[in-house]
Amino acid sequence: MRIDLPLEDFLALPDTEKVAYIGDRGILYAQQFRRADLDRYNEVADAARKLARRPQGSAFMSGLLKHRMALNFFVQPSSRTFMSFNAAEALLGLNRMSVRDPAISSMSKGETLVDSVRTFISYVDLIVMRHADDDAAATAFWTASRAHRRITLPGGEKVPVPIVSGGSGTTQHPTQALLDVYTLERSLRPVGGIDGKTLLLVGDLARGRTTRSLAFLMPEYRDVKLVFAAPEKFRMGQDVRDFLDARGVPWSEVESLDAGIERADAIYMTRIQDEHDAGKQKGVHEKAEDRFRFTLDHLDAMKPHAALLHPLPKRDEIDPAVDDVEDRRVAYWRQERNGMWMRVAILAHLFRVDGLLLDAASAPVGG
Ligand code: ASP
Repeated sequence: MRIDLPLEDFLALPDTEKVAYIGDRGILYAQQFRRADLDRYNEVADAARKLARRPQGSAFMSGLLKHRMALNFFVQPSSRTFMSFNAAEALLGLNRMSVRDPAISSMSKGETLVDSVRTFISYVDLIVMRHADDDAAATAFWTASRAHRRITLPGGEKVPVPIVSGGSGTTQHPTQALLDVYTLERSLRPVGGIDGKTLLLVGDLARGRTTRSLAFLMPEYRDVKLVFAAPEKFRMGQDVRDFLDARGVPWSEVESLDAGIERADAIYMTRIQDEHDAGKQKGVHEKAEDRFRFTLDHLDAMKPHAALLHPLPKRDEIDPAVDDVEDRRVAYWRQERNGMWMRVAILAHLFRVDGLLLDAASAPVGG
């Protein structure tokens, strides 16, 4: 439970080894999930969605964690992740606090992240965090493991305050990956879900933490193929390509959306992550090349059952005309709401009330 390694040694471990320390006491890396976990999260998200439809179901859910306090520690821009975690916490009855601006916290006085997290742990039972530093969530997890404070789960197990990454630097966005597989499984349900499908990932794959985390989940599905469409400078990272090779997930690269669209069962668009560019001018954004822009013609070329996802925010990589088309294949708006249900499932699991939620949803009065 307590990580006995010095922080530097813990951070130096490959992510696949850090995962062993995390277990299911936090969410930091997409690699920590197995297929059974993913199926369970999807089931709990569906149960939450069902319970929330009726007053008794929603009252039951909002009683589950009303004795808990969450901190949403988001010191990097966020709309959807921040709001959907807030909404999910409210749906489960959690009390909530947030820290969003480091300039008005003690971090601006030079406090280390370790000390800040140690302080937060004195007041809260959960930290959901977004930070520009790839290692920030791992640092927080290490800190929580070494703090004296423990929370007692139903059944009596005492665990450190859980840490959930809501986006870490350019490398990981594991809860986004969970909501993405949830959206894909639901959208592709008529054709058997994600198994056996081809996913086309488009845009800035080098610095896109969403597509990286999603790719890390793909070995959990049977016979999935990945196709990457990115400008040379934004190619999917070598670490992800090696990970897929080691696990036998076939991947290929194409020069344009056109070259991959007809074989894809899902298209996952992303924006250029130019906030990471040195010397970037405020309010000026790099434009997507035409060959990586999704237009109405691409919608015509998509398979009839395929789904179009985007983690959002989007810019010019999707023609705004696509927003106005009444077409079930355009999934990115419902992907947002799926995120809220998935985050209910994530929180319910961390506090071990997911079983109660499933039972209530399957009881005749629950739904
Ligand atoms: N919202 C997602 C993220 O935080 C995608 C993006 O910003 O492009 O990574």
